[in-house]
Amino acid sequence: MLIDWIARARSEVQGMHPYQAGKPLKEAQRELGVDKLVKLASNENPHGPSQKVLAAIREEALDCNRYPDSNGYYLKQMLAAQHGVEPAAITLGNGSNDVLELVASAYLDHRYSAVYSEYAFVVYQLAVQRSGARAKVAAARDYAHDLEAMLNCVDADTRVVFIANPNNPTGGYLAEKDLLAFLAALDPGIVVVLDEAYYEYVAAQDYPSGVALQSQFSNLVVTRTFSKAHGLSGLRIGYAVSHPDIADALNRVRAPFNVSSLALAAAQAALADEAHIVQAVNTNDAGMQQLTDGLEALGFWHIPSVANFISFQAGGTGQHKHGAAALNQALLSEGVIIRPLANYAMPDHLRVSIGLPEENAFFLDKLAKLNSA
Ligand SMILES: *Cc1c(COP(=O)(O)O)cnc(C)c1O
Repeated sequence: MLIDWIARARSEVQGMHPYQAGKPLKEAQRELGVDKLVKLASNENPHGPSQKVLAAIREEALDCNRYPDSNGYYLKQMLAAQHGVEPAAITLGNGSNDVLELVASAYLDHRYSAVYSEYAFVVYQLAVQRSGARAKVAAARDYAHDLEAMLNCVDADTRVVFIANPNNPTGGYLAEKDLLAFLAALDPGIVVVLDEAYYEYVAAQDYPSGVALQSQFSNLVVTRTFSKAHGLSGLRIGYAVSHPDIADALNRVRAPFNVSSLALAAAQAALADEAHIVQAVNTNDAGMQQLTDGLEALGFWHIPSVANFISFQAGGTGQHKHGAAALNQALLSEGVIIRPLANYAMPDHLRVSIGLPEENAFFLDKLAKLNSA
């Protein structure tokens, strides 16, 4: 008997598609037959983890026969001190991705709706779809969140609004005064998730810190991650800072032991290693200059970014005659992995993460070669 196992899944699951991740690097390299592979596809810290993190992981590994501390007592103490909040305001997740899912699973179901922007981080869509809530997607303006349009999407059923600041894959940020006006106009009973995955990289004077706004807006849930500037993507750890009552709700739906003991130990060491963050930010600032100069010299238009990646136009009315998908393929065969954005409904754009100077140069060399061919 032939059984349709997708048809038997929850109706929310039937419309979903698995997240499209890349092949393992070694496999990609083997298939492409290239000597050298440069990966600028996932906005990772190109320096790797800090030495202090590696030492902490080695030490913690000796106890990996034990379950982790499910409440992350020591890490929460450190985070609470850093942010000037109570430990009860912190929710730890298996990546901040997990925290976004916790918000959806605590606050959304088929009776409710959630609002996010066109071109916003794809996990908002996935989390909302899985919850069964209606997604209300506000049109972007110049690839940026249009807060007025987002406000117009809010209805009586709306329980959650997702905002990425800065946003991935577009790289732009919202200024403090605009965010404040949005929050002031919004029903305070709606949870606003402010995703600050790239917080460490942003130097703009008018870039707001979500945690600082929580004294005025108790509906604000700020998410941060150890995956980007801290260099711990592979360990999966992120967190939310929120009103303790919201944290209570999130912790009710959190899986026990959702964060591994190695991730907890690594995050504590990473928080204490400020020099590593400074290095990541300095490398990123220089790389931003190098890549934007290089893209401009080759005639590629890019979306202004304050994060550790840049999305540039390569198809449509863009500059590469073969289009973004073909350029991406050609870069792959030259050993450069960047991110096509077709699944973000940006089929003419490609996103390149900022790497080490020599990685950026490798990418620009290949791009120049392909562009003149
Ligand atoms: C990378 C990223 C995250 C972080 O994901 P983790 O699950 O913490 O690795 C969150 N939000 C945005 C917008 C991102 O780009």
